[in-house]
Amino acid sequence: MSAGLTTIPARRGMAARVPAGQRVRVVNTHGTQVVDAWAFSAGDATEWMAMEASRAWFMKLAAAVGDTFVTNRRRPILTLVEDTSGCAHDTLMAPCDPHRYGLLGVEGYHDNCRDNLHAALAALGVTIPATPPSLNLFMNIPWTADGRLAWGEPLSTPGSYVVFRAEMDLVIAFSACPQDILPINGRTGRTTEAHFRIE
Ligand SMILES: [Zn+2]
Repeated sequence: MSAGLTTIPARRGMAARVPAGQRVRVVNTHGTQVVDAWAFSAGDATEWMAMEASRAWFMKLAAAVGDTFVTNRRRPILTLVEDTSGCAHDTLMAPCDPHRYGLLGVEGYHDNCRDNLHAALAALGVTIPATPPSLNLFMNIPWTADGRLAWGEPLSTPGSYVVFRAEMDLVIAFSACPQDILPINGRTGRTTEAHFRIE
């Protein structure tokens, strides 16, 4: 990969600190990988990017370029400034967790975005008391006029990306979603790495 890109390993998480005004590029390296994303105020990790508050701010089910995500204290935290993915990044679905895989029939442990989030934050010395809803980058959850949802297959192309601007000093966290039962990462069940860069 090109210089400065940090790997989000397949089925794992990664977090980084981002100063206000800098940008975060997230690359869907192989084109089929959902990347769950969270952001937290650097000053107080109980202030986090909130999907429900963000939808109430930009008044859409999914952000468009120029839209700003806000925190659970309604303060701007990330603005979507570029997007080559062709995908409406899902804001509706909870990040996967062990209970989800249990409902899908998995016996024993399965990698999951919840645990990836907490492990990635722990590597930076950050702990949080709950698991906030995630911004599900490159995750195709189409909706119908009567409000029905579906587990769509990936729409992005390899190397497509999104760029966000940090609106406060923040901690960003990602999980390369290990979902290999539902088709959100493609019907083959293949899960891959992705990459990001602070610019
Ligand atoms: Zn997941």
